Amino acid sequence: MSLFRDNIEKMKGYVPGEQPQEGDYVKLNTNENPFPPSPKVLAAVKAAAGSSLRLYPDPMATRVREKVAEVLGTRPERVLVGNGSDELLGVIVRAFAGSGEKVVFPYPTYLLYKTLVDVQEAEVVEVDFDEGFSLPEDIIVKGARITFLCNPNSPSGTMVWPDEAARLARQIDGVLAIDEAYVDFADANCLSLVEDNPNVIILRTLSKSYSLAGLRLGFCIAQEGLIEGLIKVKDSYNVDRLSMAAAVAALDDQKHLRENVDRIKGIRGYLSESLREMGFFVYPSQANFVFARCKDAATAGEIYEQLKRQRILVRHINYRGLEDCVRISVGTREEIDTMLGALSEVLCETGKSAGK
Ligand SMILES: *Cc1c(COP(=O)(O)O)cnc(C)c1O
Repeated sequence: MSLFRDNIEKMKGYVPGEQPQEGDYVKLNTNENPFPPSPKVLAAVKAAAGSSLRLYPDPMATRVREKVAEVLGTRPERVLVGNGSDELLGVIVRAFAGSGEKVVFPYPTYLLYKTLVDVQEAEVVEVDFDEGFSLPEDIIVKGARITFLCNPNSPSGTMVWPDEAARLARQIDGVLAIDEAYVDFADANCLSLVEDNPNVIILRTLSKSYSLAGLRLGFCIAQEGLIEGLIKVKDSYNVDRLSMAAAVAALDDQKHLRENVDRIKGIRGYLSESLREMGFFVYPSQANFVFARCKDAATAGEIYEQLKRQRILVRHINYRGLEDCVRISVGTREEIDTMLGALSEVLCETGKSAGK
């Protein structure tokens, strides 16, 4: 007899991407930003470290809420700050989906949604994306308490455009949670949907575009009624003082963000083109990673293994139907050139072409 609840005993648990704690890797597997955060962040953290750490932090992260509202043109009452957007995803599942209730998302997408729903003992409804990663009709599920849309999507890097997301928001039952972790690298976003749709929640993070994955700070934007409910569910002191100080400084430096994002988009174009020239099929990316299909699963596996031997980490996405795909984060131009060099050797050695 297990001591655990049945659903916990049975579930697999989320497996984060490899995070080697030692050794020098060209790390292109978990979509971290290769460039440093704004220098103002470090200064702000140092200053905050020298003050009042014996005191609890502001439970509402008021300064961060205000800064988010200022930068995004909304009201602080419409913002909730979390210990990474992963925490807020968990808060959303706990707040809206009871045991046995339906939570819907397309397949393939961010794997954490399923884990959170399993922990909650709610019902996972996975609906396959259409060809080219457009939204399928049957994403509209009667009685769904939450519909998740990772947008841009991971691992595909593709985007559902705001007019289509707006239509979805109007058609579904329950909440539409749009996870915009990668949206600063995209050509559009769904923030304006909050205005007309009392069931829409937009999630953002400082982990990717702001180069602060090590900090753990995310936030969500929704109408006041939803935010007030979510506050009841979150941990009281969910964001620490150092992260708050850093977040305010990072958000305040929009110039740094724009320059960082522009550089990444430039390298993304170079990476996509280079992979196409090598014979990969590359999905059009709106994120800071590129999703590429090669000849078969064996080739994709070989690419992953051989690159790892050379201390280059990429992701072999071993999802159903995507066994022949690799996901590669946009690194510095140097890192990408190192990876491309190793990749062409792998393809040469094995006598294989990436050939799709
Ligand atoms: C990286 C990522 C997150 C996690 O963001 P944190 O703020 O670091 O917790 C959420 N959703 C998606 C799709 C991501 O890729």
